[in-house]
Order: sequence, then C-alpha cells, then structure tokens
Amino acid sequence: THFGYKTVPSDMKETLVRGVFSSVAKRYDVMNDAMSMGVHRLWKDHFIRKMAPSPGAKLLDVAGGTGDIAQRFLEYQDRVNGDSSSTVHMVDINPEMLAEGEHRFQDHCDRSRISFAVGNAEHLDDIADASFDVFSIAFGIRNCTRPEQVVREAFRVLKPGGRFMCLEFSRVENPVLAAIYDFHSFNVIPRLGEAIAGDRASYEYLVESIRKFPPQNQFAQIIRDAGFTTIGNGYENLTFGTVAIHTGFKF
Ligand code: SAM
Repeated sequence: THFGYKTVPSDMKETLVRGVFSSVAKRYDVMNDAMSMGVHRLWKDHFIRKMAPSPGAKLLDVAGGTGDIAQRFLEYQDRVNGDSSSTVHMVDINPEMLAEGEHRFQDHCDRSRISFAVGNAEHLDDIADASFDVFSIAFGIRNCTRPEQVVREAFRVLKPGGRFMCLEFSRVENPVLAAIYDFHSFNVIPRLGEAIAGDRASYEYLVESIRKFPPQNQFAQIIRDAGFTTIGNGYENLTFGTVAIHTGFKF
C-alpha cells in the first residue's frame, strides 16, 4: 500500500528518527542547565583548562554522551594551541546519546578529528593498550557498576605519561552547605525532573547514585590502587565539593 511504512522514503525516516533523538538530547541538556543552574558549563570549562592538553593530544572521552567534553577539547586546541591535529574518540554505552553527539559534530569543520564507538567503560576491548594521551570521563563513572574496573581500563589504554581525568559529583563537607545541598537534591531535583522531563524516577535515581559514589578521598585511593600517581590528595573540589575533579598520571 502507498500508505504503509515501507513507502516512507528512507531519508525521511532518518529525519524523523533524528528529530526524536534531538528532543531527547535537548531535554537532557535543558535538565543539566536547570539542575545545576547553568554551572555544569563552568565545571566543564574548568575541567578542560585543568587538562591543558598539548597540541596533537589524543583524547579518549568515555561516557561522552552528547559531546560536551569533546567539543570543549577541540575548541581549546583551536583557540589556545592553534592546533588542528589533536583528535578525540568518544565511547558511550547508549547509542542514542552517541548519535546525538555525532549529529552535533556533523558540521564541524574537521569531522575527521572525532570518532565514535558504542562501548562499556568497564571493558574497552576495542581499544589498544597505551594508545591515548588523555582519558576523560565526566559525570559518567558513578553510573558504572564497577568504577575501579573503569579506572583499571583507563590505566591500560593510556600511554606512559598519560593522564586520567574524572569530573563527577562528590561530597559537600561543610555541614551548613551540605544541608542546603541536601534540600536541593531531595526536593528540587526530582520536581524539576518531573516538570521538565516528565520523569521523576530517573532524577530520584540520579540523586541516589550521587550519594552512593565514594567520597573524594576514597575515590582518589581507587585511582592510586589502579597504578596512577596522584599529585597532592589527587583531587580538586569545585563549588564546595558538589563536584570534584580527580586526576592521576601513568608514570
Ligand atoms: N560526559 C557527558 C557530559 O558530561 O555531558 C555525558 C554525561 S551523562 C550524565 C552520563 C553518560 O554515561 C550517558 O551518556 C550514559 O549513556 C553513559 N554511561 C553510563 N554507563 C556507562 C558505561 N558503563 N559505559 C559507558 N558509558 C556509560
């Protein structure tokens, strides 16, 4: 029949599918802005400045989602280093998030500098030993079942001299600020999730996953146990410890 789905031209179907994914990612990005009051952008900017990648660096961005870190990395290389030879490989377990990432970069001037693969951070089987200069994971490791396995994989795939960098929610230590933060987490975030994404349960899960992730010191120890060398205590708190950046060097 002319009205059956088989008569929908494949390019039109692609457009429809793309529209669905865009709306998911758009909501995802809107939620990030709403929950963090826009501050996640500053955290990510700071993360890349701290990374301070060298010209020509090869970045592996795991749990890369819609590409916030990858995009900032390439922009930093262009702007600060005048470099157009560095590359980024994004891995994410969710093909829909990754498809959004691909969509975002389709008009990038140098599409050949970015590649994508669906994969699990705990088993980066397709990635060779000692093949990347920097490993990044932003707001992804607390979703993984075994964070210590992710850190071990990072150690394996980094070149000697390479750097592990993780941006993740952490613990607010000041008791007064912690009380305010708890109110935001348990009351504001699930309501925002319901209002904006129509999905309270997912945002309750989000708050719970933040609580369950090890605090700053414990996570720094996991990084050292995997073989990394940390400088000082191995982390930097941002916004009173709402999030922390952990780094380690493979020497
Ligand atoms: N890094 C992006 C950012 O900062 O905007 C995305 C963060 S998003 C909150 C978390 C991402 O982790 C999702 O895209 C999800 O699919 C991915 N993820 C969850 N578990 C994973 C796993 N085991 N391996 C790889 N990616 C995973």
